[in-house]
Amino acid sequence: MEHIVIIGNGISGVTAARHIRKQSNKKITIISAETDYFFSRTALMYVYMGHMKFEHTQPYENWFWKKNRIDLKNGFVQNVDHQAKELVFSDGEKMSYDKLILAVGSKPNKFGWPGQDLDAVQGLYSKQDLDSLELYAPNNKVCKRAVIVGGGLIGIELVEMLRSRDIPVTFLIREGSFWDVVLPEGESEMINKHIKDHHIDLRLGSNLKEILSDENGKARAIVVEETGEEIPCNLVCLTPGVSPNISFLKDSGIDLGRGIKVNRYLETNIKDIYAIGDCAEQIEPIGNRRPIEAVWYTGRMMGEALAQTICENRMEYKPGIWFNSAKFLDIEYQTYGWVHGMAGRPEYEAHFHWKHQDDTKCITLAYHKETRKFLGINTFGIRMRHDVFNSWLTEKQDVDYVINHLTEANFDPEFFKKYETEIRRSFSNQPLTIS
Ligand SMILES: Cc1cc2nc3c(=O)[nH]c(=O)nc-3n(C[C@H](O)[C@H](O)[C@H](O)COP(=O)(O)OP(=O)(O)OC[C@H]3O[C@@H](n4cnc5c(N)ncnc54)[C@H](O)[C@@H]3O)c2cc1C
Repeated sequence: MEHIVIIGNGISGVTAARHIRKQSNKKITIISAETDYFFSRTALMYVYMGHMKFEHTQPYENWFWKKNRIDLKNGFVQNVDHQAKELVFSDGEKMSYDKLILAVGSKPNKFGWPGQDLDAVQGLYSKQDLDSLELYAPNNKVCKRAVIVGGGLIGIELVEMLRSRDIPVTFLIREGSFWDVVLPEGESEMINKHIKDHHIDLRLGSNLKEILSDENGKARAIVVEETGEEIPCNLVCLTPGVSPNISFLKDSGIDLGRGIKVNRYLETNIKDIYAIGDCAEQIEPIGNRRPIEAVWYTGRMMGEALAQTICENRMEYKPGIWFNSAKFLDIEYQTYGWVHGMAGRPEYEAHFHWKHQDDTKCITLAYHKETRKFLGINTFGIRMRHDVFNSWLTEKQDVDYVINHLTEANFDPEFFKKYETEIRRSFSNQPLTIS
């Protein structure tokens, strides 16, 4: 019986396993060095915040795997020998495969800062990171201040987590405004204000110079590059993004870039070896999409597509319209299609930005300056319907149509009844093109 081995029990690996099982009797093994069972990484924050127990982040009961004849193996794969079709574990054990799926995810970035490997310096990615957070920041007696370095989605989650235990937080962000590589200026500024309103010591345009140690090798302070200021703290969280967790593959012969290079079928350069999820890097980018997309639903879609290929129904990975969502403290964020921040905004992309006077809700619509084709929308504090934007973007509607039908896309039509006139007026009053 063909043996399919999957390294990684995250969303992409388990989705592939489940769909292969649905369609075949192949022998399936999932390997992970992190946890015995699949859990939802996106829910880690809610465990720390006391909204759920860790067990509740596991979407499947523990018996599920045996019942579905999916073998689970806890161990770290150190080496892939593709000629022998064999994996070598860190304890020397070997496992052979017929087809290998690399679903090895990401690891938090570290940029060689002095002190980055001290105790009480960590990222937030794994279950082990959550345990470490409990150790170093159980409350504000043990952790009198935490410093978070890097203003992205995980950084802001950590801010919210630590504040939920009343731990004072300094948030060090290299950029001049929060996440401005992704968010247009109005939105980014609104979130700066929102962060400050939550009594966070937000330091924009500030880089980490070094982390200072106490006599036991534990972080005691950080130094800010620009000012030389020393900020005493008991925890340093490094959250300047993630990158594919592929260092164990460097001598494997598998083609690597920043991630594991794959074609549209998620195949690597080596026959019978595939890569999916955060670690996969598209050789040929798909539309405007980045070659590596470290998001939950794309991992799931890759797992589904690859399962078809493994089950003799070769299928291309076609992710469709880009969307994503996140939360910035109390403000929910959704994005559909393409709305560029300052960096990399194409010359043809115009924006219409509307902000509610309470500074917690706003919309940015992106459209083509000349054709007025609707390109995408960002919404903050207003929940929109995915299916509606998906259709409008697929149908290539123009921005005027979208403005006139926004009520249909809103989960809370009452909101739009109240603000529709203002939004429309503001849209028709804007200069013909704003960029
Ligand atoms: C705190 C946090 C919040 C997030 N929130 C969101 C969100 O709101 N929305 C969203 O879309 N995305 C979010 N993400 C990103 C999302 O969780 C990831 O895109 C997704 O989990 C990646 O899944 P994956 O299957 O590719 O890899 P992973 O979930 O990383 O799984 C890979 C597994 O492989 C294991 N592994 C790696 N190498 C080896 C080896 N050599 N041997 C054995 N095992 C190995 C790893 O230990 C890991 O368990 C969040 C991520 C984090 C960390």
